[in-house]
Amino acid sequence: VTTSPLLAVRALTVRYGAAQALRDVTFDLAPNSALAVLGPNGAGKSTLARALSGLVPPVAGSFALDGRDLTGQSPDTIRRAGLVHLPEGRGVFPTLTVMENLRMATACDRRGRAAAVDRAFEIFPVLRERQRQAAGTLSGGEQQMLSLARALMVDPRLVIADELSLGLAPRMVDVVFESLRRARAAGVAVIMIEQFASRALDFADRCLVLQRGRIAWSGDADRAGPELLRRYLGEA
Ligand code: ATP
Repeated sequence: VTTSPLLAVRALTVRYGAAQALRDVTFDLAPNSALAVLGPNGAGKSTLARALSGLVPPVAGSFALDGRDLTGQSPDTIRRAGLVHLPEGRGVFPTLTVMENLRMATACDRRGRAAAVDRAFEIFPVLRERQRQAAGTLSGGEQQMLSLARALMVDPRLVIADELSLGLAPRMVDVVFESLRRARAAGVAVIMIEQFASRALDFADRCLVLQRGRIAWSGDADRAGPELLRRYLGEA
């Protein structure tokens, strides 16, 4: 028995002017699963994230979430369909408080909003402590948590996390991975673009390696051994 995929990506192709950043990328993602997207600088990892979130239009190919074709849809439509992109950098409003950032993230009425904020505080207790603080004064890891909390408030099916741990202290990287684990426990699928290949592979079930915009390797994350990392990423 095969379950139908949460995300189906078919021959997705993106160009910036004459440069092909993504070529013929095809893969499926099962519900509640986690995919690590690895590859050297310029391989097209961020472009994949941006194409799936509607920030860059593909020139060819398609993608569908839960069987619904979202190719060419606006970022807003895609987000409301349940696919949320956490971009590189933080995506929080620095001058607003933590509470204001969270309240803005839901379209619910007041009671629904209060309940959603409470759920976010349960997943990220530190945000409760910091709720009156301006988001811009949080540490990098706390801002990532806030960004993820905001994303989870819309009950996404799939979160695309682009280099969430970039520039964070190791302890904060742990916090970010733990946050993503909680998101998965709540039923969310994750596509993780990550510079720390080994951590991403520990977290993920599946792995996809991009090289010059193409899929160079894909398979189970626990089969992506050191030899593969050396070959495609130049890692020891
Ligand atoms: P990194 O790890 O360095 O962020 P990446 O794998 O995320 O790399 P992308 O950012 O997706 O790679 O870039 C893929 C290719 O597209 C690169 O060759 C890059 O130079 C090019 N590119 C990215 N954004 C643009 C743009 N706005 N205009 C033109 N070319 C771009």
